[in-house]
Amino acid sequence: MAESAYTDISNLGEFKLIEHLTKSFQPIRKEVLLGIGDDAAVWKPADGLIPVVSTDLLIEGVHFDLSYMPLRHLGYKSIIVNLSDIFAMNAEPVCVTVSIAMSNRFPVEALEELYEGIKQACETYGVDLVGGDTSSARQGLMISVTAMGQVEPDKYVTRKGAKPKDLICVTGDVGAAYAGFLVLDREKSVFLGNPELQPDLNDYDYVVGRQLKPEARVDVVRKLREQGIMPTSMMDISDGVASEIHHLCRQSKTGATIYAHKLPIDPQTVKVAEEFGISATTFGMNGGEDYEMIFTVPIQDFEKVKSWQEISIIGHMTDDANVIQVILENGEAADIEAQGWQHFSQRSS
Ligand code: ADP
Ligand code: MG
Repeated sequence: MAESAYTDISNLGEFKLIEHLTKSFQPIRKEVLLGIGDDAAVWKPADGLIPVVSTDLLIEGVHFDLSYMPLRHLGYKSIIVNLSDIFAMNAEPVCVTVSIAMSNRFPVEALEELYEGIKQACETYGVDLVGGDTSSARQGLMISVTAMGQVEPDKYVTRKGAKPKDLICVTGDVGAAYAGFLVLDREKSVFLGNPELQPDLNDYDYVVGRQLKPEARVDVVRKLREQGIMPTSMMDISDGVASEIHHLCRQSKTGATIYAHKLPIDPQTVKVAEEFGISATTFGMNGGEDYEMIFTVPIQDFEKVKSWQEISIIGHMTDDANVIQVILENGEAADIEAQGWQHFSQRSS
């Protein structure tokens, strides 16, 4: 498309730009009394519930790379990562604010794409966009999302309630988003070299999808609640199992034993691991950005969770807070290091 087909942000000005991007976001939640357009939004948790809040900052070149991350996906993902944090507290999200700062290299149409993704995520998860802030930046794009939610006062689940012998459970599969990142990064030269020539990613559809369009595990969190299972600790997997297990252990003052062969790893992730000459276990332990849940339940709940398709029991908590270990396929025990995601790349999360 010719350059002139794009609208420079300065043509609109800040107020018009905000209005333009947010006009289709009308509050639908009954908890939201006042949405976008005033100095602050107003909302009130449903009767008997208390508020929960979480925020995240995403920086271009640190958390995302626009050479292969379409802006629509970025908008979607920026909401998902925050909703995932709210679900990880065993809470339900209600509304979000989105603040952006961008250089003048981004035309209005680029921001429209970003907000399309934001809208799609808000609709899918039934949350309202109720405000934000907009600024120019010297360079790049920054997005900060704050998610607000609600929970019964005695039902929020922290990272610090796990007890020795509790089972460690993981939802879905792990390592795929990192596999997707590696594939996209490898193909980046093709994207950059010739925009007309799109790399063929058909064989990698699952892992690439996990990197570009993650979902939050609302289904599992709700199912746990419906079945009366209260995790003793829980968090979402943003930095990788290894890193998250360290958080749970440190805050719960326990150790942990994980069995490598129990890690749920998709066959496509295994294939990518082979291509890169890295063990699939390493992907499963250290890959980040899967946004699955990791949680612990008392061993008495074993019968209830063992048959769930969407859950894998990967190990258990132990007494000795100094021993956080993985039993490898060959039976050897290895210390789990918390370096997680950073282990592989300069990107941090
Ligand atoms: P203020 O001067 O008080 O910061 P703004 O003019 O920045 O107000 O914002 C006007 C309204 O638009 C507010 O309700 C604000 O929350 C909302 N808003 C501003 N920027 C964004 C954005 N990027 N996304 C969503 N809502 C926004
Ligand atoms: Mg403002």
